[in-house]
Amino acid sequence: MPPPADPGAPGEEGKEVELRPGTPEETEAYELGLKQHSFNEWASSKISVHRSLLDLRHELCIEKKYYRPLPQTSVIIIFYNEAWSTLLRTVHSVLERTPSELLREVILVDDCSDFDHLQAPLDEYVSHLPEVRVIRSPTRQGLIRARLLGVKHARGEVLAFLDSHCECMEGWLEPLLERIALNHTTVPWPVIDMIRWDNFAYLFHGVKGTLMVGGVDLVDLKFDWHIVRQIELNKRKSIIDPIKSPTMPGGVFAIDKKYFEHLGAYDDGMEIWGGENIEISFRIWQCGGTIELVPCAHVGHVFRVTSPYHASVDKWTRNNKRMAEVWMDDYKSVVYRRHPEYLKIDAGDLTSRKILRKALHCRDFSWYLQNVYSNVYVPDLRPVAHGQIQNKENHRCLDATSDPKEPPRLVDCHGHGGSQYWELTRAGEVRLGVEGKLCLQTAVIKKVPSTDIITKTCAHRFANDQPSKQERWVLQNSTVLYHPMTDRCLEETESGLVVAPCEDVNRQRWLLQNLDLS
Ligand code: UDP
Ligand code: MN
Repeated sequence: MPPPADPGAPGEEGKEVELRPGTPEETEAYELGLKQHSFNEWASSKISVHRSLLDLRHELCIEKKYYRPLPQTSVIIIFYNEAWSTLLRTVHSVLERTPSELLREVILVDDCSDFDHLQAPLDEYVSHLPEVRVIRSPTRQGLIRARLLGVKHARGEVLAFLDSHCECMEGWLEPLLERIALNHTTVPWPVIDMIRWDNFAYLFHGVKGTLMVGGVDLVDLKFDWHIVRQIELNKRKSIIDPIKSPTMPGGVFAIDKKYFEHLGAYDDGMEIWGGENIEISFRIWQCGGTIELVPCAHVGHVFRVTSPYHASVDKWTRNNKRMAEVWMDDYKSVVYRRHPEYLKIDAGDLTSRKILRKALHCRDFSWYLQNVYSNVYVPDLRPVAHGQIQNKENHRCLDATSDPKEPPRLVDCHGHGGSQYWELTRAGEVRLGVEGKLCLQTAVIKKVPSTDIITKTCAHRFANDQPSKQERWVLQNSTVLYHPMTDRCLEETESGLVVAPCEDVNRQRWLLQNLDLS
């Protein structure tokens, strides 16, 4: 049992810490904490490791009775140089807000941290908590293999993974376990509430607000959040029913242990941080499982602005390449086209992961895109052209300015992509750059069509969208960009880019890179 809460203590009920460092010693401690953890560890250290949270769950969640028996769970918390306060608050929130009959054990996996407080003092502390064990990795493994090490020691039927700076809310686990008990191939994750990195306020995300499921940018392979569309929400019988999610953020989820192992656990060739959540998401869906966001389950997580692993971007890229090579089929070419740096990376041996995909009879990535992640823009596998667009008269290149409100212009070609990278899609759009979210088009000023050229968010954002008339171009004679809506052609003039009556002149001729007219 937690000690009785002092409602006046800092941060109780999930409130923000109002204290500010006053003395020079406090300021020093504050700055050191920020440097080491990228969050306000000083404020966190003022909060009880047993702090209370207001139970703000929907009344239907509070009242809900669970299908019994629910499976027993091993909670796996991996950490690398975590702060004492955040780590132990994670542990106590599990111990104090999980029914004991559902908690088999809490496994702490130390990924070879160097902080002193995580050595003997942690062992001493944990020796008073019978449900908790510490497992130490003799070398730094990164989060993927650290979790695998935890799994090796787990004895519960279900695994629940948590980051080392979380706070579980009342009733966080039962709704997840119910989904697994009903179908062992369901992989549920909770609403991840934000614990602010600067003042440790717990910001509860209610079911009546916008629910966010996981997505991924198919060009950058970064996880992103998607607001669940109303039509999806309306399909549910109840406001607290689970929602299918194309991916998950990865820090917090539960999975049947046997199913996790059957599915191939994690790719143990991945290093340090990142990409593993997208890999397991694609794998779950493509190999017959389901990922669900469970609105009644809530876990807070300290979101930081900067990652302490910024030195590991190359590891993240390599992890992504391993993922793309095994799961994305031809769609990996979209990533490589926009990020040529991927081609230079040695992703290592992928034989066993490819065998796994075969053995599990997993579906193609195109199936995933059509059936699971259909509300996303999928770049062309083979655009008509991609790269720079150079004017034949002055040999300068079409360049988007960094300010999207400014019209694009012609500048000297630099050959480094970025603001000079365009794709002419099969649908006739000229899409800008790595994100591919802006389209070259004629402006509409106060509802009146203009001949000026701008870049603006493309009309085609989701699977079945069509480009707008302003955005459509037809490539003629491999060099002219004809604009059917205005019956004009893209031209460079003294006052900038416009569409002008088509003429047989070099000002209207363009050299497009990587033309593929097949
Ligand atoms: N972690 C680890 N070894 C590493 C990197 C990270 O054990 O080499 C742990 C880290 O302590 C945390 C989890 O992996 O519990 C996820 O990392 P982090 O919270 O930094 O990622 P974020 O939530 O910022 O994406
Ligand atoms: Mn985290």
